[in-house]
Amino acid sequence: MKIGFIGTGTMGQPMLANLVRKEFEVIAFDVVPAALEAAIARGAARAGSVREVAANCDLVVTMLPSSANVEAVYLGSGGIVESTAQGRLCVDMSTIDPGTSQRVAARLEEHGMRFLDAPVSGGVGGAVAGTLAIMVGGDAGDLEEARPALAAMGSNIIHVGAVGAGEVAKLCNNLISGSALVAVAEAFRIGEAFGVDPEILTSVIAKSSGATWVMEHMHPVPGIVDGAASSRQYAPGFMTDLMAKDLGLAVSAAREKRVPVVVAPAAQQLYRMASSHGLGREDFSSVYKFLKPSSDDAPV
Ligand code: NAD
Repeated sequence: MKIGFIGTGTMGQPMLANLVRKEFEVIAFDVVPAALEAAIARGAARAGSVREVAANCDLVVTMLPSSANVEAVYLGSGGIVESTAQGRLCVDMSTIDPGTSQRVAARLEEHGMRFLDAPVSGGVGGAVAGTLAIMVGGDAGDLEEARPALAAMGSNIIHVGAVGAGEVAKLCNNLISGSALVAVAEAFRIGEAFGVDPEILTSVIAKSSGATWVMEHMHPVPGIVDGAASSRQYAPGFMTDLMAKDLGLAVSAAREKRVPVVVAPAAQQLYRMASSHGLGREDFSSVYKFLKPSSDDAPV
């Protein structure tokens, strides 16, 4: 099976490398020359455009930053929809809003093409190791066709439902992890302000009702969890800007369905503020740095 890979950035590159390692033939395109060169160095053939990729593969995989990028690559001028790739199956692995996935799928269908949304969890580490969790929306038969390629990139492939459902699952997950991380960071700032040792506080919470995967694996206080980004000067990991984007998508999805949400918008604003203070490209756990207490003589 020949894979056409569009979007060879931070995640796309290691995912593509795993496809090559599993002996898939890969043809790649990225608008940024350095990203495309890196994909060529990892064993992909070079394409000069989106349409060239779509016309020269059996399965298209896209890994793009945002909903607007996905819309442009699929439906824009020179996009996949304009290619003559009748019957072609396309798998979008970006984190975007479910409505865009559904719109793209409907337009492709009008042109005889098929679409799955298949966002991932597991970050760069999971992409490198080929152990991503992949949550899929779309036709079950199409998923079976794409499964060998997906299995080269991830170890947990879950069919969530119809097109868009994979994105919904991804947004729900990141709403929880993004909000939980803010709660952990706030709790540890309070603990420290009262002189409680953060290691002891971690042991207490780990055995209590506040225990959370985020604290166990992504502890925001440096030096407590070895593998955590905080113990590597907050090198991502998962960037603050991406978490702010995902929480924004979750809030929009909630608004669309009239679901009242309180915690997610507050967490999103905090990540946005952290970003505007220079933490956007650091790991999202760096929001802890932003939550420093004000000076002792500040009025309360
Ligand atoms: P990235 O910005 O590093 O890579 C995206 C690539 O897409 C870039 O190289 C960019 O040049 C390319 N691109 C943009 N528009 C294009 C176009 N029109 N044609 C061709 N290429 C185009 O982003 P990333 O970190 O790899 O993330 C990709 C997606 O995966 C995002 O939606 C993100 O939310 C999601 N995600 C990221 C992580 C992570 O840890 N980085 C984890 C899970 C999910």
